[in-house]
Amino acid sequence: SPIIECHNLSYNYSGKTALSNISFVCDSAEPIGLVGPNGAGKSTLLSILCGFLPITSGSVTLFNHQPGASALSGRVSALPQDAQLDPAFSIGEQLAFYARLQGLNKQQARREASRVLEAVALKDVLKEKPNALSHGMAKRATIAQALIGKPELILLDEPTAGLDPVNTRKIRTIIADLSPSTTFIISSHDLAELGRLCQQVLLLDKGIMSTMQLNTTENDSP
Ligand code: ADP
Ligand code: ADP
Repeated sequence: SPIIECHNLSYNYSGKTALSNISFVCDSAEPIGLVGPNGAGKSTLLSILCGFLPITSGSVTLFNHQPGASALSGRVSALPQDAQLDPAFSIGEQLAFYARLQGLNKQQARREASRVLEAVALKDVLKEKPNALSHGMAKRATIAQALIGKPELILLDEPTAGLDPVNTRKIRTIIADLSPSTTFIISSHDLAELGRLCQQVLLLDKGIMSTMQLNTTENDSP
């Protein structure tokens, strides 16, 4: 079954249209870009895909299930744009906590925290508190959280917004290394940035979607 199938999806915030009759199918496990200017509807679409906002018009399925269905728990994860780390706890404690929420025992959770930190090249900060991290490192630590439990599909809302080129490249490398065994949907207002990672790009503008197939030659890899 396709990774995502979306038909005639519309969404309004108390009368204001955020998504207007959008349809698309994602059936390749390669990273998928979601590009558009501020206010285009990217966060709204990602929120619907992960089940945070209800479907009020049209249909959406992920792996043939409704967004938010219990059958998808552990298979789909999301990183909201404003994801924050708790300043009171070490990075390792927070990641292990999320792993515990997914049903791992203490020892497994500690191992999973180390695994995901290694995947984002942050092994050394396991015992650090968030305020010891640079902005780029903190962003990678939140991405690590989305990797817990090896979900098949990960939705990243503006993962590189506000980051310098070095950290942007690091995040691109993380995504490229985990693809396509993990499928990423990555939103950004920067088409050139997404073009380096994604062959399929969904374009959103004022809630209206068009798709774009990029014929990337591999000489532009991270
Ligand atoms: P984005 O960068 O994705 O456009 P915003 O900065 O516009 O996000 O929005 C930040 C938060 O404010 C989000 O939770 C969003 O849902 C909410 N928000 C955005 N626009 C409005 C609005 N017009 N009225 C109320 N809440 C809004
Ligand atoms: P993007 O992520 O592409 O910046 P959003 O999905 O955040 O776009 O927003 C799409 C539109 O919906 C914008 O016009 C925004 O102001 C509006 N919007 C977003 N969240 C809310 C909200 N909670 N209440 C009212 N309007 C909102």
